[in-house]
Amino acid sequence: MSNPLLDFSGLPRFVEITNEHIAPAIEALLEENRALIEKVRTDVQAPTWQNFVQPMVDASERLSRAWGQVSHLNAVMNTPQLREIYNANLPLITQFYAELSQDVLLFERFKQLRKSSEFSHLTSARKKIIENELRDFRLGGAELPSEKKQRFLQIQKELSNLSSKFNDNLLDATNAYELLIEDVKTVVGIPADVLQTAKELAAADSKVGWKFTLHMPSYLPVMQYADDRNLREKMYRANATRASEFDSPAGSDKDNMLLIKEILKLRQEEAQMLGYENYAEVSLATKMAASPQQVLDFLRELGTKAKQYAERDLQALKQFAAEKLNLPKIEAWDVAYVSEKLREERYNFSDQEVKQYFQEDKVLSGMFGLVEKLYGIQIRPVLASREVQCWHPDVKFFDILDVSGQLIGQFYLDLYARATKRGGAWMDEAVTRRRIDDQQTEKHKIQVPVAYLTCNFSAPVTINGQLRPALFTHNEVIVLFHEFGHGLHHLLTRVEDLGVSGINGVEWDAVELPSQFMENFCWEWDVVSEMTCHIDTGESIPRVLFDNMLKARDFQNGLQMMRQIEFALFDMHVHFDYKPDGNKTVLQLMDEIRNEVAVIIPPDFNRFPNSFAHIFAGGYAAGYYSYKWAEVLSADAYSAFEEVASTGVVNAVTGSHFLEEILAVGGSRPALESFIAFRGREPELDALLRHNGMGMV
Ligand SMILES: [Zn+2]
Repeated sequence: MSNPLLDFSGLPRFVEITNEHIAPAIEALLEENRALIEKVRTDVQAPTWQNFVQPMVDASERLSRAWGQVSHLNAVMNTPQLREIYNANLPLITQFYAELSQDVLLFERFKQLRKSSEFSHLTSARKKIIENELRDFRLGGAELPSEKKQRFLQIQKELSNLSSKFNDNLLDATNAYELLIEDVKTVVGIPADVLQTAKELAAADSKVGWKFTLHMPSYLPVMQYADDRNLREKMYRANATRASEFDSPAGSDKDNMLLIKEILKLRQEEAQMLGYENYAEVSLATKMAASPQQVLDFLRELGTKAKQYAERDLQALKQFAAEKLNLPKIEAWDVAYVSEKLREERYNFSDQEVKQYFQEDKVLSGMFGLVEKLYGIQIRPVLASREVQCWHPDVKFFDILDVSGQLIGQFYLDLYARATKRGGAWMDEAVTRRRIDDQQTEKHKIQVPVAYLTCNFSAPVTINGQLRPALFTHNEVIVLFHEFGHGLHHLLTRVEDLGVSGINGVEWDAVELPSQFMENFCWEWDVVSEMTCHIDTGESIPRVLFDNMLKARDFQNGLQMMRQIEFALFDMHVHFDYKPDGNKTVLQLMDEIRNEVAVIIPPDFNRFPNSFAHIFAGGYAAGYYSYKWAEVLSADAYSAFEEVASTGVVNAVTGSHFLEEILAVGGSRPALESFIAFRGREPELDALLRHNGMGMV
């Protein structure tokens, strides 16, 4: 066992893993998996959980644990060498899983097991795993007759090429645009750091002035801050017409609208091959929402309730623009600008001011204290050692113990940004909880789950020779709570089978419930006052400042929500009842939806669908509604805590109920069942509206 990537007896051995270990380990594990699969798919015995599913789970777990460590290092300790090795091995892994999903013999054996008398005796978790497997084989086209399989695979390939072309066009169009401003009067209002970058961009082209682009760090500040209305209009127009007939040579495939038509046709064909009416049904087959109509009804109900708030928001903008900014009519390119000015006037505080109160240690102990009270657990720091190896000196490690002091989970916490780390924040699984049976001794043990929690916050700095603790913005604290929520979903599971343990097997539109749920606590005075301590004065955050933050939280939520609903309705209709071969164009569909729900109608030249990469080039096709859907679940779940006014939201009784019915069960049953078990009823919209300042509907 000299290769640490092949040691599965404990925690990953990050200090000992070197680049040389990677290829041999992956090769050995792929070989082991292939040999095992060959054995079980041609086994003469009837398939049982023990002789068929379990050996595959075991082998595939070893592969994913080893590869997980490599991917993790690639994401947090990236070097050119590691990246090269990672990229060389990734196709091998992808290829292996692609072959697996097409394997008709394996599919047949799963069907046999499903029909066997053993099936009815399996635990509900194991039943769910088998059902999920069958579903995924079907959606992968495994059931098609062989003459149709060819066409099915061809569609998959074409769709993947079209998506990639869609993204390329969008990126090319974004990169192709630049605007050089030479007159200083034109850039008035834009923040100094943005101007500095724009100046350097111009200088790099040997030009004098400021160069602006359609990349967000350049585009957004111009739209928010530039006093020059013409500049905003120019930039808005360029952004809203990317990859459209306006910026592509006629007849070229640089116009994403042509790709959209192709994509929609192919998705429709794929859906029909699989026996569905439309692509929306295919997308929902793996989601919590039951039908496209249910999603449409949900979006429209939310829209009906939120619209008056959006109209109120718009009215406030109009009035402010007319009275204070001398803008009698607001155009699309004025909205962000006027909003920013109104926000500055209404809420007189800065992120910087708030940040002085959120010190790392205090925030962590506040967050840990909160979940300790809610779930009856204890979180203890553990120092790095031979057993607990971290990949960087800044990484912290913690044990989670239950009431009786038993170890139930562990996590790494890697908080600070550094050059070798990928951007953003995320939770990932290092080890997943499961039961391991020893066939010889007939004893079993529980494998303790382990999580990686990764953020990109600013590190502690040394000022005048003194090390100051890391300080977080309120938004960063929310991000930390969010990821920790995903972490607890993974770590506090009680499921004993890998495929539905923790976040595994949880529906896409429900998986953000535990994470968004945690965010709510960042808006509770009792929680926030406990976890703040001013870096200079040591005082906890003043109530006045906190109340101001609360007010700013609701700012223009109506407008934002109607925009999300507009996109989600378009996404669902275009994959549900829109006919790609019919007379109506995609733009006409977009217009119909805007006329129904939008309070700000964009100009005619706006080509939003051409840059809607989420649904035409990402994984969100007929799934964009998931953002709002999961928010309804998390807000409604959280309101169960708000209802117990006598104790405040930090309530151990409701907490243990939430732990048992939501967190602990993972994907072992449908998310709706879990929600109803916790809440005693189906989800309702009220809490989401109330949390968005739309309480008085
Ligand atoms: Zn999330």
